[in-house]
Amino acid sequence: MGEFELIRRHFQRAPATGGDGAVVLGIGDDCALLQPSPGHQLAISSDMLVEGRHFFADVAPEALGHKALAVNLSDLAAMGARPLGFTLALALPQADSDWLARFAQGLFALADAHACPLVGGDTTRGPLNLCITVFGEVKPGQALRRDAARAGDDLYVSGRTGEARLALEQLRGTEWAGTAVEAEARARLERPTPRNALGVALSAVAGAHAAIDLSDGLAGDLGHLLQASGVGAEIHLPALPVAPALQGLPEARRLECLLAGGDDYELLFTAAPEAREAIALASADSGTPVTRIGRITAAPSLRLLGAAGQVVPFGAQGFDHFA
Ligand code: ADP
Ligand code: MG
Repeated sequence: MGEFELIRRHFQRAPATGGDGAVVLGIGDDCALLQPSPGHQLAISSDMLVEGRHFFADVAPEALGHKALAVNLSDLAAMGARPLGFTLALALPQADSDWLARFAQGLFALADAHACPLVGGDTTRGPLNLCITVFGEVKPGQALRRDAARAGDDLYVSGRTGEARLALEQLRGTEWAGTAVEAEARARLERPTPRNALGVALSAVAGAHAAIDLSDGLAGDLGHLLQASGVGAEIHLPALPVAPALQGLPEARRLECLLAGGDDYELLFTAAPEAREAIALASADSGTPVTRIGRITAAPSLRLLGAAGQVVPFGAQGFDHFA
């Protein structure tokens, strides 16, 4: 199977549809052509997945196809942008037809669910490496930027954090995580659910200000948002949603999973207190649970507060590839 046969067989689906008609020209020419809605801004993001660094060599190819796109869709969600399409740059050690078919199945299932068609890419031989670029659109002024948090805002998180980290430790065989790999936690690690419906709903809420998606741990990613906005925050720890699988962990490990777990792909966002009702509606309309976990402060530090309002020390940092 040559390069072009591989593309035709596994990635070219005729005709490229979805993106609500934004795709004028899909796979097969030198460039794809996308037509955003009149007056909208393009939102663009790339994410790369490298074997041994972002996934285990033996991960199910369907899950890998899903996750490679999910982490990119999550960036659009965090901006409040609607997906239009994506490109896929692929380095493969060999053209394994069975592997490719399963990878494509996971990839396209998620792409179809989000009406986000594959419009192009590049294919080469090399160590397994996947890079996806997503294109989305958002109305001017409605993007949920990291630098838009304001002192006095409420701080919210969607879904719940920490399970992906638990599953990672279980797969590694880390003692405190227990020997059994919990199925739901593993699904959170391998098949994360990007929160696009919530992101788009939030972008239309006037009082919703800043957002970031959680890829490297809640505390670290919140730090990026706070720094960009020049503000601080208080998190009320008892308010954090805790999955059943995390409930039995020692306190310090539970906090580590919740606040520094990584791979959560939930949305962390801020909104004016006047917007509480609108946020609840956005949550209901998008079928995505959200929890108010704290507030934004003028003092530029992050403070974690326990049940009695006492400051809880926490040292773990977000994940950094070069740290
Ligand atoms: P060029 O040499 O002009 O860059 P290529 O020969 O690399 O084009 O690719 C041919 C066509 O197939 C292009 O439209 C490109 O976008 C598409 N393509 C290549 N690899 C992939 C892939 N992995 N997934 C989807 N489309 C791809
Ligand atoms: Mg090319």
